[in-house]
Amino acid sequence: MTDGSLLDRALVRLEEAASHLQIDQDVIEKLKYPRETTKTRLLIRMDDGSRKSFLAWRCRYDDTRGPTKGGIRFHPESTIEEVETLAFWMTFKCAVMNLPYGGGKGAVRVDPHTLSKTELERLSRAYMQAFATTVGPDRDIPAPDVYTNAMIMGWMADEYNQITGSVTPAVITGKPIALGGSLGRNDATARGGFYLVRHLAEELGLAGSHTVAIQGFGNAGQFYAQLAAADGHRVVAVSDSTGAIYRPGGLDVARLIAGKTAGRRVTELAAELGATIIAADELIGVEADLLVPAALEEMITQANAATVKARVVLELANGPVTAEADKILSERGVIVLPDILANAGGVTVSYFEWVQNRQGFYWDLEEIHARLKKMMEREGRAVWDIAKDRSVSVRAAAYIHALGRLSTAIEAHGTQP
Ligand code: GLU
Repeated sequence: MTDGSLLDRALVRLEEAASHLQIDQDVIEKLKYPRETTKTRLLIRMDDGSRKSFLAWRCRYDDTRGPTKGGIRFHPESTIEEVETLAFWMTFKCAVMNLPYGGGKGAVRVDPHTLSKTELERLSRAYMQAFATTVGPDRDIPAPDVYTNAMIMGWMADEYNQITGSVTPAVITGKPIALGGSLGRNDATARGGFYLVRHLAEELGLAGSHTVAIQGFGNAGQFYAQLAAADGHRVVAVSDSTGAIYRPGGLDVARLIAGKTAGRRVTELAAELGATIIAADELIGVEADLLVPAALEEMITQANAATVKARVVLELANGPVTAEADKILSERGVIVLPDILANAGGVTVSYFEWVQNRQGFYWDLEEIHARLKKMMEREGRAVWDIAKDRSVSVRAAAYIHALGRLSTAIEAHGTQP
């Protein structure tokens, strides 16, 4: 890790993209800082009768291209700086995909695994009470992120409806289907990345059957494993926050997911799957054609980037590769498909959910998949072509692609004040 904050490190990518375009300094000045971040404390009644206070934030980074959009994370190590950086990434992600949104993000500093279901519900409702005037279907639209899910979005939607005396499903996405959620939102992050890899397989040297290592076995990681295995690829290593397992011949993904769903850790499943337990960090360096970081930011760093053996890194997590690691990987010929493109399937299907909520007419799964595939391929190809034309990394190309759209919108808004 280098100096400066996480946001400073993220801004390096913005500056790099700007250096390739004729960008007005006004645009950079606007995109360098979050527009507004609200911090509050949520005071929750615990089941034992005591009260506990949790720090919470919501950041609306930039709304030039539309209402701010982005998930809410429940994590014991969340900080304001992390929330603002994630909101910065959302701004660029929505622009890469040409979604009519700006970028936002929220978090509560909590380990949700230590809460009972009723405590979790009170915390989720308290979050919406605190931010009821920040969010809105035309203002700021939250969604799930790390350690939050459809159930939590459902509670939040319900709380918003109670506060406003309306039924406004479009205020939040990633809801349960019964409350206006979209088909296909649950596996959308993984599916978007999967469509991207399949579309560029030839160029990436991944045509035909390949091997995959997945770091992080939550929503994105599990669905990616499932999609890859169903498409004839071998998932050879996976990890969760407690450790990693490796089996060169391929892991039984169905049994792995069944075990995780039953609350077991991947290392507890090693013996029955005929896999070897390895250190969590070793997963980064296993023999696999494709490495999929699907956990948290700054996992592939200066310290371990040289161990990567994969040809391609698909960033299903946000910010998993540091700028220094990017350099090392590129020197070694490893192609990184960057987060703001690679994991954009999630927010893209969130957009479909919001559209369906507003039109009150719901699409079938086939239509969702077809639309997602088309958008991932269209924007993925555009980014790929920029990378080739300008001889830059795919990440730089994605930022250039997004920045072009953002700067056009910022300029169209006018120059006053
Ligand atoms: N949390 C997801 C992301 O980082 C999804 C955001 C959304 O659907 O709004 O992209």
